Amino acid sequence: MKLIILGPPGSGKGTQARLLENKFGLPQISTGDLLRKAIAKGTDLGKTVKEYMDDGKLVPDDLIIALIKKRLEKPDCENDFILDGFPRNLDQARALRDINKIDLVINLDVDMQDLRKRLISRRICPNCGAVFNLIRKPPKAEGICDNCGSKLRQRNDDTREVVSKRLITYMNETEPLIQYYRNKHKLKNIRDGKDIKGTFDKICNVLD
Ligand code: AMP
Repeated sequence: MKLIILGPPGSGKGTQARLLENKFGLPQISTGDLLRKAIAKGTDLGKTVKEYMDDGKLVPDDLIIALIKKRLEKPDCENDFILDGFPRNLDQARALRDINKIDLVINLDVDMQDLRKRLISRRICPNCGAVFNLIRKPPKAEGICDNCGSKLRQRNDDTREVVSKRLITYMNETEPLIQYYRNKHKLKNIRDGKDIKGTFDKICNVLD
């Protein structure tokens, strides 16, 4: 199955996509993770995109479309994948339509007021990529990754100032995709559950 997980920053797209990857073996493709890896490696792409990301802006479409196209050409994506963080605007959605046929779009529907709090309380493991949240999913030992014991850190773009910009970017550029996919009869709206598992159960019900 070829899936998109849509939703505002902080809605838990990455967390739910990873749970789906574990349960169904679908490869999870996060454009944000691919870009952060490029930055960590110091590649030309990484150098170009860092400023956009640190400033809460979308990376230019030509770069991101080339990146996703290359990733989707790999053999593990032939029949199944979950896209997390792509597409982010209508032009990207149209480009994707020309690359691949999507089966279903899951929209994570979360109260906008909750998002700011969630994003600011997010912590990530720079070593294994695990994601924690001081409110919803705190690590067992403060500041330490449960999986690998590395020191957790905050993403550069999870600061108060950048979070506000990202939410505005979402409303202006990404939210119209809900209607775009609804018109194509591909959209399933998932109201955020009480917790991560509650939301995951709802997604699994839709996929059954
Ligand atoms: P994420 O990890 O999905 O929250 O993405 C973090 C940042 O990476 C975003 O704020 C953008 O700067 C950039 N980014 C990720 N995916 C895309 C995309 N599809 N189009 C443009 N920029 C993106």
